[in-house]
Amino acid sequence: MKTDKDFALQLDQQDDLRAYRNEFYISNETIYLDGNSLGLLSKRAENAVQTIMNSWKNYGIDGWTEGKHPWYYLSEQLGELSAPLIGANPDEVIITGSTTTNLHQLVATFFKPTEKRYKILADELNFPSDIYALKSQLQLKGLDPKEHLIQVKSQNGNTLETKDIVEMMQDDVALIVLPSILYRSGQILDMQTLTKEAHKRNIMIGFDLCHSIGSIPHKLTEWDVDFAFWCTYKHLNGGPGSVGGLYVNNKHFGKEPGLAGWFSSAKDKQFDMEHTLTPAANAGAYQIGTPHVLSTAPLLGSLEIFDAAGIDRIRNKSLQLTHYLMALIESELADYDFTIANPRDDKTRGGHVFLEHPEAARICKALKAENIIPDFRNPNGIRLAPVALYNTFEEVWQTVQVLKTIMTEERYKKYENKRGVIA
Ligand SMILES: *Cc1c(COP(=O)(O)O)cnc(C)c1O
Repeated sequence: MKTDKDFALQLDQQDDLRAYRNEFYISNETIYLDGNSLGLLSKRAENAVQTIMNSWKNYGIDGWTEGKHPWYYLSEQLGELSAPLIGANPDEVIITGSTTTNLHQLVATFFKPTEKRYKILADELNFPSDIYALKSQLQLKGLDPKEHLIQVKSQNGNTLETKDIVEMMQDDVALIVLPSILYRSGQILDMQTLTKEAHKRNIMIGFDLCHSIGSIPHKLTEWDVDFAFWCTYKHLNGGPGSVGGLYVNNKHFGKEPGLAGWFSSAKDKQFDMEHTLTPAANAGAYQIGTPHVLSTAPLLGSLEIFDAAGIDRIRNKSLQLTHYLMALIESELADYDFTIANPRDDKTRGGHVFLEHPEAARICKALKAENIIPDFRNPNGIRLAPVALYNTFEEVWQTVQVLKTIMTEERYKKYENKRGVIA
């Protein structure tokens, strides 16, 4: 692969998504490669917040049913808009809660330990919040997490093998919770095969889509996945603390939510104010209380962009960007002890490149000092996420040039090799 700057410029010329960059607030002085932690603000998302603020301003309480986007139906409406991103039917998706609270809800609903099946299967590389939630759900049922939570081991510390996961699908496992894309190495797990193998053994399976929604296409319903959950502030650009989402396969509709509240109700029954819940007949049943309307609002704008750009085109450019980045790292940084620790092939490589380096913490500080925003992951990882909707091939080229200067001039030595409070 060619790696010179002209080639980068040529790729930018040919990029059919390049117009979307103008939809975002992008500082000319910085190269933002952290969209997999917090996506950037788009003008459409900003306008959507203003629209919702205006309906509050103009309608007061009647904003629940009046205005351009009545708040009472907003979570369902945004569920519908999200469905194509994960290959779901519109009523299988609801925008509600957060990654962690949605996981709590789904485990509270679908983990029904019996005499014979009483374990939850997870993996040792998942994000800590998921593991904490699983442990506390076990404890709530009087089960000891040390015995009842089993975690698939990684052979190399970065990735998981399908066969190792399948091997752990034993007769005593009731539920499996795995990430779709591992947050450090960016490995995509084979959700289709894992779901098939789980179901052969009568085990329910759900996925954490935090790093995959908005980054890769999914076919959850076709694959027959039981449930899924995610945040919306990473690739979906919903803003800090934006409301999360969940998916429940329609074959599970009609189940009582494990954690009920009045917003679990069928919409037309909710205001009957009865003390017996009539749950919604769709994914809406897994909502709990009043939606966080102001933190939901940006999604009205940002999901519109995904609808217009199309997830297949986004994935296609994302693969090109990470491919180009890896090629540059190999040609320019070969002498500097970096290891590309994400999977290389298109089928298992997610939306970011994961570099390992003994000096990772201070290399990240040096990059930030040069206005390039990476993401450090303890103890020695650098995540670089060139995002299809707003990053360019030229920025990727520039990043590697700066990184090379930092290494040749040992500029990173000015900093302590220690992570910040948030990293
Ligand atoms: C980002 C992320 C989370 C964060 O959970 P919140 O409840 O949104 O704070 C959880 N799990 C994974 C895999 C993540 O990547």
